[in-house]
Amino acid sequence: MSRKSAVVIGAGIAGASVAYFLGKAGVHVTVIDAAQHTASHVPSALINPVRGQSGQVDGGALEGMHLTWALIRELQAQGYDIPHGQTGVLRPVPDDKTRAKFERNLPSELKHEWVTPAAPLRGDWAHALWLPEAGWVDGQALCRALLAASGAEIVQGQAKSWSAQSVKVLHATSHMPHAAYSADAVYFCGGSVGSSWAGEKRTHRMGSMLLLDRAVSDIPLSFGAYLSPDARADGLGGVLGGTFEAPAPTWQAPKMPLASLNWLLQKGEALADLRGVGVVGRWTGSRLSGLQAGRDESGVWRLSGLSSKGFLLGPLLAERLVASGQW
Ligand SMILES: Cc1cc2nc3c(=O)[nH]c(=O)nc-3n(C[C@H](O)[C@H](O)[C@H](O)COP(=O)(O)OP(=O)(O)OC[C@H]3O[C@@H](n4cnc5c(N)ncnc54)[C@H](O)[C@@H]3O)c2cc1C
Repeated sequence: MSRKSAVVIGAGIAGASVAYFLGKAGVHVTVIDAAQHTASHVPSALINPVRGQSGQVDGGALEGMHLTWALIRELQAQGYDIPHGQTGVLRPVPDDKTRAKFERNLPSELKHEWVTPAAPLRGDWAHALWLPEAGWVDGQALCRALLAASGAEIVQGQAKSWSAQSVKVLHATSHMPHAAYSADAVYFCGGSVGSSWAGEKRTHRMGSMLLLDRAVSDIPLSFGAYLSPDARADGLGGVLGGTFEAPAPTWQAPKMPLASLNWLLQKGEALADLRGVGVVGRWTGSRLSGLQAGRDESGVWRLSGLSSKGFLLGPLLAERLVASGQW
């Protein structure tokens, strides 16, 4: 029997994970990636199953967290360098009412502990939730490792049109302006920018990270925004990040000054003392809400709309999508 083939559009965490699991299943994979506005290149993404300001835990969040860490270990064992820290995450809460809300939402299987807020957290938090199995990862490094380990052929260019078994590409770098690829299956994983290029109207939110000259805390701190180490400067860099720009129906180019800058700084200051911390750069990305994980009416497989949980749920949903494929 001849080897099955698939084309994956997009090489963020969704597309790279799909390519990885397809490759593992013995499928010949071609990944077409425009390499533009990739939200997954976030310098430091939290792997944090407890979401928002009410402590919600999505179905699949615990499984997703364990799978993402297992993947990172598997890839590191194969020699890929993926800066990360399974350091735990500290989620301070402002008062007893918020803690009670969190407690109602936390599943018993989630390892957690309530601790007394201590430095580097500011002292005016009422409580802090310690999640020992959570942590952070360099998004770009994880995507790069997944792609390399998938064995996929990578084509840099923008897919202009596609159907269940073929994709037309506009090459960004080649003298040949158009090319067509056919395969047994096509997966669309275009994220926020790809959804807009495809003419869809969905819910997009820009978010930014301020790149700091040092990590304010070895352990990510998160409530509203987050402070986390990242991989720059031999592990000494840090970020302050969050997504607070107004939702928009399409991908938006970042506008300066950031509308959310004051909000971000206030949230960061509320978490820890930022005096003496230098801002050395900025990274802005757009995330897409409204999860799509399955086959659409045209027969194209889709993994998109991972919202703020790309690294928590992306690999798990990709594994399930590939396992559910009967083609
Ligand atoms: C500020 C910020 C902080 C975040 N923090 C976290 C966090 O702490 N934890 C977490 O889990 N998640 C976090 N996220 C969310 C996470 O980044 C996203 O959920 C995830 O990256 C989405 O991945 P994706 O693969 O769907 O899309 P993307 O990463 O955007 O990848 C899509 C890729 O497809 C390419 N593409 C699109 N259309 C086409 C086409 N037609 N042809 C060829 N290529 C195409 C694009 O160029 C891009 O490279 C954060 C997001 C932001 C903005």
